[in-house]
Amino acid sequence: MDPVTAFTLPDIPIQSCVDPELEKTGTRVDVLRLDLLDPVISGNKWFKLKYNLTRARTEGRQTLLSFGGAWSNHLHALAEAGRRFGFRTIGIVRGEPGEGLTACLEDAQAAGMILEWAGRDAYRNRDGAEFLTALRQRHGDFYQIPEGGANREGAMGCAEIVSLYDQAHYDLVCLACGTGTTLAGMASASQTDLLGFQVLKGTGYLAGRVTALGRTWDLPLVCRWAVNDDFHGGGYAKTTPVLERFIQQFEHRHGIPLEPVYSGKMVMGLFELVKKRDFFPQNSRILLIHGGGLQGRRGFKT
Ligand SMILES: *Cc1c(COP(=O)(O)O)cnc(C)c1O
Repeated sequence: MDPVTAFTLPDIPIQSCVDPELEKTGTRVDVLRLDLLDPVISGNKWFKLKYNLTRARTEGRQTLLSFGGAWSNHLHALAEAGRRFGFRTIGIVRGEPGEGLTACLEDAQAAGMILEWAGRDAYRNRDGAEFLTALRQRHGDFYQIPEGGANREGAMGCAEIVSLYDQAHYDLVCLACGTGTTLAGMASASQTDLLGFQVLKGTGYLAGRVTALGRTWDLPLVCRWAVNDDFHGGGYAKTTPVLERFIQQFEHRHGIPLEPVYSGKMVMGLFELVKKRDFFPQNSRILLIHGGGLQGRRGFKT
């Protein structure tokens, strides 16, 4: 199947959250349900793969190779995309083989992905010539996609998320950020202000990174955008009882499942900011991008 045709965007619902905590403030919050985009290739990972698969096919590559942790939404989506569109896939997983397969990696393997472990040090040097040469010797030629789908093709795909809301006149669009690729891509196309919630610890690091990515990829960032780094909750994939309770309550009220790594932190952070009253102007209309990634919930005992 031709990836370009296969990656035709279906209708994605925008769901409004009528929430007692928000009503008092007059703020209106809607959610763009990218988690419903596809049963497996969900959320922003679908957008990040679109132009990578297209380019790999155009270049006649048969193998896609990428990197990720044991709960990587990116490797999970890539394995399924490879299965559907006829690519061999190889996932380089951070960690040691003795750590066993997570449910995420089991899915990836079942979809045909060849898994290979890289110890923490090797993984850190994964983009180095030495490591890549060794991989080519073992696996032959491949089309390489960085961890998290963080390349120019990935960002170009994410720019198309904007088309799902740009007729709707929001005051602000919020999203959860890991590598910042989705934010950079959207900021290259959005007319609405963007607010990214950084899920990794490190003051200010992501804002600098997004600026650098825009430059490196020659994608002018055309809208106003900012990064909030107050709601990482202790670091990447760290959760707290408060966050878990928030996620449960949110799903109960709105029927929208969240997960604690990305969307949970973003939605909880946004609610905190709205409750501060003076943070957003009265009667703001805010759209939250649900980035998918719900398969990762299986890694948490909630
Ligand atoms: C990967 C992912 C993100 C982060 O996207 P970046 O482009 O790396 O910033 C956010 N939310 C979910 C659910 C993800 O899977």
